[in-house]
Amino acid sequence: MRIVDVRCVEYLGALPGGEPFWRDRLRRPVDVYPEFAARGPQQLPELPGGELEVRQIFLHIDTDEGITGTTAVLSAEQAHAVSAALRSVLLGADPLAGERVWDLAYRSAIHGRAGTGMLAVSAVDCALWDIRGQYFGVPAHVLLGGPTRDTAPVYASTLGDSLDLDDVRARTRELRAQGFGGVKWFPRWGSNDGHAGVDKVVRLVAAVREAGGDDLEIMLDAWNSWDIPFTVAVARETEHLRLRWIEEPLLPDDSAGLKSLRTLVGGRTQLAGGEHEYTRWGIARLLRDDLLDLYQADPHWGGGISEMTRIGALVSAAGRQFIPHGQSVQCNAALTFASSPALVPEMEYLLRLAPLYQHFLAEPIRPENGVIHAPRATGLGMRLNDAAIRDARPLS
Ligand SMILES: [Mg+2]
Repeated sequence: MRIVDVRCVEYLGALPGGEPFWRDRLRRPVDVYPEFAARGPQQLPELPGGELEVRQIFLHIDTDEGITGTTAVLSAEQAHAVSAALRSVLLGADPLAGERVWDLAYRSAIHGRAGTGMLAVSAVDCALWDIRGQYFGVPAHVLLGGPTRDTAPVYASTLGDSLDLDDVRARTRELRAQGFGGVKWFPRWGSNDGHAGVDKVVRLVAAVREAGGDDLEIMLDAWNSWDIPFTVAVARETEHLRLRWIEEPLLPDDSAGLKSLRTLVGGRTQLAGGEHEYTRWGIARLLRDDLLDLYQADPHWGGGISEMTRIGALVSAAGRQFIPHGQSVQCNAALTFASSPALVPEMEYLLRLAPLYQHFLAEPIRPENGVIHAPRATGLGMRLNDAAIRDARPLS
């Protein structure tokens, strides 16, 4: 089998309008500048008639045997990097020999070993797993040695939800009723909000604990936007509320800061991170200094499903756990259902982003009663739902 074409296509669709898609937004590193901190969430554009525009880029890799491998969603930069840097590597290559393709892609774009370049390699690798699964007529996780279980628990990520405390309580009760055993919140406040900001984070966690009950797992995602004093204060002042982990409290490059945090809060509050790290070498650097309790490299960003299996081996050997960041539910499911529950105990499900990113799929993966079932569709299950596509624009 040979690869005969590599296409990035932008699909256009719509969601019902009436209310904004995002209710609030998370803290961002640029929010140390007040003019950025004051900005609200960036909404989906409104179409004439009031519907919300859905515009997403998919990668399709065509083969001479009629099988097309697909993955999504790609950023415009990621799609450009696939076309500009990887297309020539892919054309004519054997898509079953994924290790050769990965290694060629990596070695042919030496600046691409992190950032957008690695995001492009990641997307290609995931699309190749879709081809391989279709070729052998099985889900991708089966080719990787799965399924290791019939179902995997998922925790709910509330990115984009309202941070008003009444809304937080109502949402938490709703998620408990839906069967979720864990919930992650994304505070709007960070380092330059001082102790008033810490108080707001503590009140958020207290509201979740009050509404969710004693056995709910509660996580916070600081999205690279706190500093050491803010993180230490939140960890100490939420100790009685039994926070499971704080995620990405510092900028990804701040290894020295993470090391200090391990000393200051380690053993009491777990530290999670790694979604903005790339490849086995990036994660190995974090593991070498034992900077995190939990690793969250993303298949769609950090090197593809293939690289995640290698990262999983490193994390396992270090005695830590791996819960991949939830950019692609399909890729995460392939990895999760091929991994020991001891290494990958659960999956992340972004309550707003996961359905949005599966808007154009005929068989979206959705949690039921707090779990996801092992996928049965061949490959990654990326068959398109033609009824959702209003327009399609090939990108050059
Ligand atoms: Mg995160």
